[in-house]
Amino acid sequence: MDVLFKDITIVTMNPLEPVLEHAYLGVTGDKITYVDTKAPEEEARKTICGKEKVLIPGLVNAHTHIAMTALRGYADDQTLTSWLFDSIIPAESRLTDEIVYRCARLGILEAIASGTTAICDMYFSAPEIARAASELGIRAHVGNVPLETGEGFNLEDGSISETYELLRSFSEDPLITVFTGVHAVHNSNPSVWAWVNNMADTYQLPFSMHMAETAEDVESSLRKFGKTPAAALAEAGLFRYPAVAAHCVHLTDEDIAIMKEYGVTAASCPVSNLKLASGVAPLYKLKEAGVNIALGTDGVASNNNLDMFEEMKLSVLLQKNLTGNAAALSAYDALYFATVGGSVALGHGDTCGRLLPGLDADIVMLDFTAPHLHPCYNVISNVVYAAHGSDVELTMVRGRILYENRQFVRADLQKEIAEAEALAVPVIRG
Ligand SMILES: [Zn+2]
Repeated sequence: MDVLFKDITIVTMNPLEPVLEHAYLGVTGDKITYVDTKAPEEEARKTICGKEKVLIPGLVNAHTHIAMTALRGYADDQTLTSWLFDSIIPAESRLTDEIVYRCARLGILEAIASGTTAICDMYFSAPEIARAASELGIRAHVGNVPLETGEGFNLEDGSISETYELLRSFSEDPLITVFTGVHAVHNSNPSVWAWVNNMADTYQLPFSMHMAETAEDVESSLRKFGKTPAAALAEAGLFRYPAVAAHCVHLTDEDIAIMKEYGVTAASCPVSNLKLASGVAPLYKLKEAGVNIALGTDGVASNNNLDMFEEMKLSVLLQKNLTGNAAALSAYDALYFATVGGSVALGHGDTCGRLLPGLDADIVMLDFTAPHLHPCYNVISNVVYAAHGSDVELTMVRGRILYENRQFVRADLQKEIAEAEALAVPVIRG
């Protein structure tokens, strides 16, 4: 046994026994090999004392644009159209591969330090993001997708060469999964869908896309294709492989039925949806229909951080208000979305998302000594409603400790911040 967490509270997410007190969890190689309330007989090479600590499964950020860390706080409090077209897109047009790489590293460090063990990232310069993820040890679903507002398909679109580059360089990397997809229905067309389908069939790629994020997205889809985004994507074949649809704010009951039929995950991004005044995704309806739900932060430019604890708390608080029913969704639901739901979304449903023997060791340890975590009648309640990302003390992915005692094992944080800011800030300021 390589690592033993001893005398610790474990949130297993096993429905039969979701919480174990004064328990032991052992890791050997990249797997969890021991979970019990009795101490193991086997010695461990490293023992971590679990007094006033809580283990939870690694959190999955199922929709982000991690390099948008470069744009944190650059443009706030504008209308969505002005934010996007006057501020974000012009600034993004000035980003280079090197800036994306440096800012992706900074974003990944923020994610690791707040308990995220996997991300689903859609952005340009995608090979740089995969490189940053692989070097820093986080799991990443990575892709760049075509963006076309006209009728045809531009074969010079950077997403094409980047998808091939991702497949060439990262197919064998156990941390990286390449996806294809579209940015959204309103900025794609049948030529794009044909290319995406061909890539998916040739390389067996999962899909990712923004879907029904805003009312305008749905109106545009209805105008262009006579269908809602979910119906258009289903008919285009983009749900034939596992698909992660980000946002899912403006859905009809028929859309929800389509998502259930095709096994599409809804990756809800409540903070971003609130900040951009896009609306509230009907998670209670999606849950009722049996659609898999995951959570994401979206890019830092519309959040402005990557703290999945904020997403968990807000995801269920908003449903209580949407329904007028304070029992609509629970703290357990929120943690389920961020762990089991996220793992299912990224194709790791059989290997991640719970703390059980035989599963991959994607583990987060929270320090429960802070005043805001006392008293503790219900550990899942405190994790979801009271904890912050800054309560994370240790993060492990596939058995490797990436963050311990609130320090990065593989990166010098001050150096990373200095390098990212020196490159990005003068370019973003223009
Ligand atoms: Zn997004």
